Amino acid sequence: MTIQKSRTVETLVEGRATSDGAGVKLTRVLTGRLQQRLDPFLMLDAFANEHADDYIGGFPDHPHRGFETVTYMIAGRMRHRDSSGNEGLLQNGGMQWMTAGRGVIHSEMPEQEGGLMEGFQLWLNLPAKDKMIPAWYRDFPSEAIPQLTTPGGVTVRVLAGESHGVAGAIQRTATAPLYLDLHLPAGSRFEQPLPAGHNAFVYVYRGEATIGGSTVPVRRMAILANDTQADGVEIESGADTRLLLIAGQPLGEPIAQYGPFVMNTEAELQQAISDYRGGRLAE
Ligand code: MN
Repeated sequence: MTIQKSRTVETLVEGRATSDGAGVKLTRVLTGRLQQRLDPFLMLDAFANEHADDYIGGFPDHPHRGFETVTYMIAGRMRHRDSSGNEGLLQNGGMQWMTAGRGVIHSEMPEQEGGLMEGFQLWLNLPAKDKMIPAWYRDFPSEAIPQLTTPGGVTVRVLAGESHGVAGAIQRTATAPLYLDLHLPAGSRFEQPLPAGHNAFVYVYRGEATIGGSTVPVRRMAILANDTQADGVEIESGADTRLLLIAGQPLGEPIAQYGPFVMNTEAELQQAISDYRGGRLAE
């Protein structure tokens, strides 16, 4: 398959250094102001901490309602426990996909006392009709994530969606998420078809990429323009590069967020807060 015309880079985003949970240092790459532009994606956090002090507090018990969280670990070990009785260890190259639906209370705690902890958490919205579905959760250890190598030597881990005929670990109908982790050796090139109406972005976490003539440096998100003439994206790398390519079908529905709850209206947020305080969130 060949791309006739590649999307270009609309904006480069640096993200905002912050901390969350019990003092975990991270970069919020996709922030609230980009939620409409990157619909159906609500948040992307990147963390890469060498020092235990910057992650050891973890994310003690907290609630979610109305969307899905996707945690992808490059390095490190995190233990997940939730109110549905699920428990799992997420480590090196593994992914956890959690559909909060009507509600879940969970903790995400480091299970290491030193060394690098690196990974990403992506929030994917649910359509209004699915926001109150039962919570769902699954762990994918590294070896359970479908992977391919292109003839040009690019390694593609297919977390969600489909690439080069390989179906990913997860498929979703309403948002049709594509979530790829790409490893491009120096001097390689990669092509991926993308439906014109889908919102798409790239996050480079090693090396440097070139998309439509623009350079995307390390630790930058490139929002890809929704050019109706473009049928996909072509990515080139001069150096050994690793990046995430993420795309999805916008829901076009109102977004109302209060911290860990993402619904369509203020009234639904008030209901979520009241359900949480009353112990009814995760029944
Ligand atoms: Mn959480």
